[in-house]
Amino acid sequence: MTNAEPAGANGLDQIFDVLIVGGGLGGLALAVGLGHLPGLNWLLVEAADELRTATGTLIGVGANGLHALECLDPRIVENVKKYAQVGTRAEGHVRPADPAGEPEVNAMPLSQQLHTIRWGATQRVLAELVEPSRVRCGHKCRGYTVDEAAGHVAVHFKDKPDIKARLVIGADGVRSVMRSSMCPSDPGPRFLGYMNWNAVRHVPGSSSAAGSDVIKTIRDSKTDFSIMVYIINAGCDYQFWQVRMTSASPCFTNGGSGGGGVPGSKARVMQRLQQLGWQDIMQEVEATDESAIYERAMWDRLPLPAWSAAGGHVVLLGDAAHAMYSGPGQGARTAFEDAHQMFLAIKQHWPNPAAIAAQYEEARVHRASIIQNYAAGMANLAGLSSDINAFWQQLHPDTPDADGRTERFREFQLWLNSYPEKMHGLPGSKYTSPEALKAFVEHCAAATAQHSASQQHMPSSKISCA
Ligand SMILES: Cc1cc2nc3c(=O)[nH]c(=O)nc-3n(C[C@H](O)[C@H](O)[C@H](O)COP(=O)(O)OP(=O)(O)OC[C@H]3O[C@@H](n4cnc5c(N)ncnc54)[C@H](O)[C@@H]3O)c2cc1C
Repeated sequence: MTNAEPAGANGLDQIFDVLIVGGGLGGLALAVGLGHLPGLNWLLVEAADELRTATGTLIGVGANGLHALECLDPRIVENVKKYAQVGTRAEGHVRPADPAGEPEVNAMPLSQQLHTIRWGATQRVLAELVEPSRVRCGHKCRGYTVDEAAGHVAVHFKDKPDIKARLVIGADGVRSVMRSSMCPSDPGPRFLGYMNWNAVRHVPGSSSAAGSDVIKTIRDSKTDFSIMVYIINAGCDYQFWQVRMTSASPCFTNGGSGGGGVPGSKARVMQRLQQLGWQDIMQEVEATDESAIYERAMWDRLPLPAWSAAGGHVVLLGDAAHAMYSGPGQGARTAFEDAHQMFLAIKQHWPNPAAIAAQYEEARVHRASIIQNYAAGMANLAGLSSDINAFWQQLHPDTPDADGRTERFREFQLWLNSYPEKMHGLPGSKYTSPEALKAFVEHCAAATAQHSASQQHMPSSKISCA
């Protein structure tokens, strides 16, 4: 390691050991870990003028995420638990077309506790454990250039001087500019066929009320649903709601580009709920200030066979590497797993970027691509989801479809939560054995290519911030 001093005020001439691009959940989790490596000269840069705290969303952190965070710094988990609600039960409601009719309810205990916590509270917990002098906001990355002879990378920013580092970690989210620079021919984010509105609002007493441990989903149909609602307590008396509607293409209110407090977004959600006669959900939305409602189109990224370039001097992490459909709730958890594995690789192999990248990719790429494909299978993407279901049916023709899906879901949860053991599969299991998962990933790669024509990707003009 080259230098024990934290980053200087300008630091223009210095070459950092490690530069993290992106101060979201994954980048910050890694930063907390790096704080435990004395002598490593590292810096985190973030595009926004300050680290974001408002996104109107919540994350569910299961055993895999908690384990990764605990290994990075036990204080993260201690603090996350202070702000989180503990979910112990799941309830899936399917409502009939007649709002006066009885819903079909499928209730089951969760195999392991799920800590549900506001995204912003998680971000704050992580940020509070990072030395402020290590963070530079207002740095919007535009790409990078590798100087192979000198063994470092120059990262370019909008209206800011370059910053050089020996290892650059692109943790800049689903629209990653680092990823575009690394893989120019990679298609942009893939539209998942959903528009999404969500908010967290303060409801005094809600975290101690009966049912606050229930993760509740409500749909209008068991299979081909056009609307899905999540109601989840987010801890500290915050209540989370999410309304997700199918949409043939990204369709923002008033032709805008979404975000927080879009004028007309609340009325749009209310109108759809009114059509369905879902009065209870309408009350939830009605009680929320429009400024607290976030509108998004839902995107994922296609799995990449490798996450590093330039001899390991540039590596991707989190959504930049593997953004996925949020249905199974694994986006942040897998970013935490990445941060943990990257921390271990740096600790073990610094100053050898090639060895760091090799160990990190061996631990992460296959596992993440399984989870991404699993999530994509749940997204109801035309063609792809049915192809993925056909794969499972072929592998296990003895399993009736609906039961098979529940059994498969449970087995996947078991495997996911077994992290960091059995990273590539649970030997002897039906759906998640290493052999089944390998065949699954191979099938999904072929199916994704076959159905590519029917899928929409975000134009590169929306990613680049040149
Ligand atoms: C509605 C919704 C529900 C979700 N629910 C769950 C859940 O229940 N469980 C779960 O585990 N996950 C969930 N997720 C996913 C989770 O939020 C993400 O997977 C997670 O935040 C990924 O972390 P990240 O650090 O890779 O990316 P992010 O947290 O998105 O951070 C990326 C950071 O990079 C910055 N950045 C972007 N571009 C640049 C640039 N050019 N230069 C510099 N900085 C840049 C951004 O400002 C941001 O701070 C959900 C997501 C959504 C949208």
